[in-house]
Amino acid sequence: MTKFSELGLSECIVRAVTEHGYTIPTPIQQQAIPAVIKGGDLLAGAQTGTGKTAGFTLPILERLSKSPNAPKNKTDRRPIRTLVLTPTRELAAQIEESVRTYGKYTNLNSGVIFGGVGINPQIKLLKNGVDILVATPGRLLDHKQQGTIDLSHVEILVLDEADRMLDMGFIHDIKKVLAILPAKRQNLLFSATFSEEIKTLAERLLNNPAMIEVARRNSTVEIISQKVHPVDRDKKHPLLAHLIKTEGWNQVLVFTRTKHGANKLVEQLIKDGINSMAIHGNKSQSARTKALAEFKDGSLTVLVATDIAARGIDIDQLPHVVNFDLPNVPEDYVHRIGRTGRAGATGEAVSLVCVDEFKLLADIEKLIKRQLPQEIIDGFIPDPHAKAQPIQLRSFQGQGQGQGRGGNGGGGGGGNRQSRPAQGAPREGNAPRTSIKPAVKQSTPRRSGGRGGA
Ligand code: AMP
Repeated sequence: MTKFSELGLSECIVRAVTEHGYTIPTPIQQQAIPAVIKGGDLLAGAQTGTGKTAGFTLPILERLSKSPNAPKNKTDRRPIRTLVLTPTRELAAQIEESVRTYGKYTNLNSGVIFGGVGINPQIKLLKNGVDILVATPGRLLDHKQQGTIDLSHVEILVLDEADRMLDMGFIHDIKKVLAILPAKRQNLLFSATFSEEIKTLAERLLNNPAMIEVARRNSTVEIISQKVHPVDRDKKHPLLAHLIKTEGWNQVLVFTRTKHGANKLVEQLIKDGINSMAIHGNKSQSARTKALAEFKDGSLTVLVATDIAARGIDIDQLPHVVNFDLPNVPEDYVHRIGRTGRAGATGEAVSLVCVDEFKLLADIEKLIKRQLPQEIIDGFIPDPHAKAQPIQLRSFQGQGQGQGRGGNGGGGGGGNRQSRPAQGAPREGNAPRTSIKPAVKQSTPRRSGGRGGA
């Protein structure tokens, strides 16, 4: 089996990785690390959960620390030589944390900038200089506009989760950033999916790239147990509370479709005595950071998140993911369940599905090429005569995720996303289904004592 030390990494980097607890490189790391060290461009098809962050961070640290421009100590002023662009603040923060962890025995330093927080500490950070800067596009351009950032020494550019950045309407911002970077540089593009838009971007950006594709976790790794609980629309909350209590779940990431839905669910769960917090684009950055920290350290039982806010949340061994609402975009299902069962750990992903969501479920099953097992929980048998209602898309509700620019320069808006109804999502006015899906198996209930939504 290949080891980190066999991939061309220096001893000081291997030491940091080993101390962090990794012994075997993941498939993306095995391929990406030597390719990036060689110096060429890279096009990688990999989603969160595959180990892609270390896949680009480690070889970048290697290259920067070995180059003639390498700093002699940690504190000297230095120009930005690597720029990592990410769609969300959480992902940016986590990548920068990884850079610091893996780079702790090198002389390299790093910094992170994103919107939704004060700009002045970032100005100071940029003034002192960092070797590796992780940024969301909006705030980066704010700094450019204010003249507080110099990108003229960038040698390596990483576009992480490029598909998500395009989904969020960042393409113009990305083009603006590309225009101000030095022409000669190494480009690494990571994307979970390859739409025509991504291919066009890749063609424009990359020069004879090495290509790596690692399998989607859900198609190859069967360590995530997936299950659907059919339930009535208004019984989802009591069912969730029931599952948390009877199953003794103590660390549950719950996805809702909208910010309003997230807030409402948190209120309901707190009334049930279940310690819960929400994380979404309308929350202040400090509230988001606090919720995430408490969830990570185990003091918060339930974190309710919208899709964008949850992007890149990286929690080792997260045991339970619940889709309180199914996502409008089938690919988001894969991203959501990828929060659990990461890097070899087992995990459980449960979806609470009501009559309105059967079309979404069918789209997901088509994407993942398998039918998800269904189990009706005793006391929560769905009404067979329930009529489907159209699903409110966040785009019609002004429920953008606030990762774009705006507000104080990068935290607020997300407006671009709102104007683009998700591909494959049901439009309002679609003929609703009128009866429960016949495929629902009423498996012998293995649980009893359900509250029946009382
Ligand atoms: P990423 O795809 O970069 O978000 O990483 C997914 C998860 O895998 C994170 O929780 C990492 O800490 C973990 N991870 C990354 N590389 C390895 C490795 N070589 N061995 C074990 N866990 C890893």
